[in-house]
Amino acid sequence: MASVSPLAFRRFIKNFAIPILFFLSAVVTWPILAEMELFERFYEYSRAHEDWDLDEFALLIVNLTIALVFSAIFQWHRLKRLVREREFQRQRAEKNARHDPLTGLMNRRAFSSAMEQIEEQAAGSNERIVAMIDLDRFKPVNDLHGHAAGDHTLQTVARRLREEIGPEAVLARLGGDEFAVIFDPSAGVVQVERIARRLLHTMEQAVAFEDGQIFISGSIGLVKWNTATSCVEALRRADKALYTAKNEGRSQFAWYDAELDRQSHARAEIEADLREAILKSEIEPWFQPIIQIDSKKLIGFEVLARWQHKTHGHIPPNVFIPIAEDSGQVGSLGLGILRRACMAAGEWDPDLSISFNVSPYQFQDPKLVDQIKAILQECEFDANRLTIEITESSVINDFDVARTKLNALKGIGVAVALDDFGTGYSSLASLRQLPFDQIKIDRSFVTNIAAEPQNQKIVSGIMALANGLDLDVTAEGIESTEDLGFLQSLDCSLGQGFLFEKAVPAEQISWLLESKWGNLHVDPEEENFEVLKPFRGAG
Ligand code: C2E
Ligand code: CA
Ligand code: CA
Repeated sequence: MASVSPLAFRRFIKNFAIPILFFLSAVVTWPILAEMELFERFYEYSRAHEDWDLDEFALLIVNLTIALVFSAIFQWHRLKRLVREREFQRQRAEKNARHDPLTGLMNRRAFSSAMEQIEEQAAGSNERIVAMIDLDRFKPVNDLHGHAAGDHTLQTVARRLREEIGPEAVLARLGGDEFAVIFDPSAGVVQVERIARRLLHTMEQAVAFEDGQIFISGSIGLVKWNTATSCVEALRRADKALYTAKNEGRSQFAWYDAELDRQSHARAEIEADLREAILKSEIEPWFQPIIQIDSKKLIGFEVLARWQHKTHGHIPPNVFIPIAEDSGQVGSLGLGILRRACMAAGEWDPDLSISFNVSPYQFQDPKLVDQIKAILQECEFDANRLTIEITESSVINDFDVARTKLNALKGIGVAVALDDFGTGYSSLASLRQLPFDQIKIDRSFVTNIAAEPQNQKIVSGIMALANGLDLDVTAEGIESTEDLGFLQSLDCSLGQGFLFEKAVPAEQISWLLESKWGNLHVDPEEENFEVLKPFRGAG
């Protein structure tokens, strides 16, 4: 038992005050009484006064003394029991605060303090490997088999992990189906990877429960923890690595990758800023000219999203569109851009069309056609001047749904183009089954085509196909007069590329229409194309 606490001492004094006083007074008075031969005197005195019954009185005092002694013994035992119970409760509370009652492993709190302790002792010199382990598809175990099965699975996994990691390693259940390990300092990368493989294997083994078996697996994130990094940071890194392992297909381990972490950090930052940028309409539509190749006439523009970030500068759409898709913002982003593009284009020559990119995620939205219709009405923009560009990934999942949607768009007068043609897996199937008006040949086949016989054959083939299906063709990525010359020889109807113009903001369109693409006649010596049609009403 632990040393006597002040509280126990006070309690003792309180409970035994009377017997102690009695005892003390006995100890003090006894020698005095003995010295005075009081007992002999009392004896003589009581004999002399027999009728006073002094002997009975003395007997009573002796009896009382014995009773007091027994009561003291009884109290003493009671107190001992009380102190023992208190101690037991204290120990149990302490254990509960540091251990997970289900598996008996350390809990998160204890694990953190174990890390802190290592950090203090190692003082930045030692390197340890920390692992974060998470079960894959654990939730269905609870949902399908009930919580008792879930608890049993966790207990079994905890026991198996304990057996595999070795006695020196620290193992904890951080919560739910998440475990963590601090390997012992002697365990290097090779050994830890070997253990990690064993852990993965043991977690894949069936867990027997009642009459059946439960199958799960686990993923592991590993990080080298140089104690110069804080415990919290080490756990965050292990968690990142775990996320990578899960993302790469589960039931495997992955090491923390600082570069990947930096990227995902930047991505998270962009995602947060994107929300604000969309709200404040900071992402603008820019316009890249589309040219009719034989007549060299400007027939319209592809609308391209441009974001000038306040600190990061220009962020390309290839970066922020996928983030907008993942964070469910691409719908509002796209519609905002379309609205502003229609507003701007409403001011231009009505012969000029605009071509607008719809991302696969946006295309899935059942409200898409109604939303586009509403914007056209709101902007009083003629639907015949609008083309929607979609890539094959928008339609590949379900041709029937895609067909219905494309027909609905065509029903309101909007044309549809298959973008990035040639880069998908089944472009021909998409073309055969869906009512496209146009295809856009991906620029990977077009740029520098004059020097690449392989691409020449592919583009010739695409042209023949498009002619057979009576589709317009736009060649993207025309960068040189040689590229243009080759496409001309194939009778490609429309072209787009840096040779003509990069995307420009709406404010520059009127200038562009008045100068380069207006009545300006380009010197054929200088540039291999000319503009024939002067535009009216540009401004
Ligand atoms: P995309 O639809 O294939 O758009 C054409 C891309 O090729 C544009 O890149 C354009 O600037 C670039 N380009 C045009 N001519 C040339 C050329 O001659 N050489 C080279 N090297 N590139 C050329 P951008 O603007 O960076 O857009 C990239 C992609 O981002 C687009 O590819 C499109 O898929 C997507 N995107 C852009 N704006 C939007 C938007 O508003 N909504 C959606 N959903 N996606 C958009
Ligand atoms: Ca496009
Ligand atoms: Ca394209």
